Amino acid sequence: MVSKVVFGRGSFNQLEDILSPNRKGRKAPFIYYVDDVFKGNHWLTSRIRLSYLDKIIYVSTKEEPKTSQIDKYVEDIILEYSELPSGIIGIGGGTVMDISKAVSLMLTNKGESKDYQGWDKIKHPGIYHVGIPTISGTGAEVSRTTILTGPERKLGINSDYTPFDQVILDPELTKDVPKDQWFYTGMDCYVHCVESLNGTYLNAFSQSYGEKALSLCKEVFIEDSLTREEAQDKLMMASWHGGMSIAYSQVGVAHAMSYGLGFLLGIKHGIGNCIVFDHLEDYYPEGVALFKKMKEKHGITLPKGICAELSQNEFDKMIDVALSLEPLWENAIGKNWQKEMTRARLLELYKKM
Ligand code: NAD
Ligand code: ZN
Repeated sequence: MVSKVVFGRGSFNQLEDILSPNRKGRKAPFIYYVDDVFKGNHWLTSRIRLSYLDKIIYVSTKEEPKTSQIDKYVEDIILEYSELPSGIIGIGGGTVMDISKAVSLMLTNKGESKDYQGWDKIKHPGIYHVGIPTISGTGAEVSRTTILTGPERKLGINSDYTPFDQVILDPELTKDVPKDQWFYTGMDCYVHCVESLNGTYLNAFSQSYGEKALSLCKEVFIEDSLTREEAQDKLMMASWHGGMSIAYSQVGVAHAMSYGLGFLLGIKHGIGNCIVFDHLEDYYPEGVALFKKMKEKHGITLPKGICAELSQNEFDKMIDVALSLEPLWENAIGKNWQKEMTRARLLELYKKM
């Protein structure tokens, strides 16, 4: 779990007070990975105080994080500084938060990040790392994974050392998120709830967080009673609770299939989940019906025909990636999932998208 968290509009202003006791010395910088949407003398970045060798690295979020990108960031730090950093701070969405978690871990664990994709392969605690979300939904601020695309697979580095040491939840930071992105990333949280609450891994811990997150999602995306600020506050907490829910259960069909789309076509997590989830009424009838309602209410049109031109070989690659995520299928369908989720069934579903 995340060891420390502060919440509140304006809490970003506490960053310096939170970081300074963790500075290890003048030669051990704080490295900030920041979404490049905040580049320039932006109201957000102008509030970051750099001292000594501290540095801001702007990150493009056009593509999801790759293992090669993490290895490069780690190498850059090792070559530039004589000491390990005091801390790694990620300011942005799931992309930037995952990069920060992964860099922190790979600074203290030898070798290449692709070798750590999977469950509990990390052996040493990472560098002190801080997550500051600027868009709500992924739950990356609270989860024990950092999802990376490697040469072979799209899979997280899941470990007890992955969660942030400190999170700052300041809903004000999300105020300029564009509407469609707000929906896609927000729906990631909604899908986390549906997949967790309908999974075979469900338990009282996951259920309590999942139910709360689901009801917050309904308030934000269905009911009309919230102010803009209330909606920002509540979606940030929905993301947190959704992440807590899957931490002790698993995601399901939409995520497994969306990883396939992401690996082959570079389709990003949030929109990928929406594209897949739209076709999953056989698995999550109530969840999909409500999703369609929310899509309509917010005037969202999802891309169609993204798999129309694919070759059999490409479908096979996507199906391989999806099927490799065994815990997700076991959670969604049960121990005998292989009988139901055949390659032919997956092909049929992908062809609809
Ligand atoms: P993202 O981080 O890619 O950001 C989406 C877009 O929103 C970007 O264009 C970004 O610039 C913009 N944006 C972010 N904050 C903004 C702001 N305040 N104002 C204006 N624009 C803003 O998207 P995401 O959906 O948050 O994250 C997706 C990534 O998270 C994927 O790489 C996915 O694999 C990962 N993920 C990780 C976990 C986990 O538990 N580690 C869970 C789910 C998803
Ligand atoms: Zn997700």
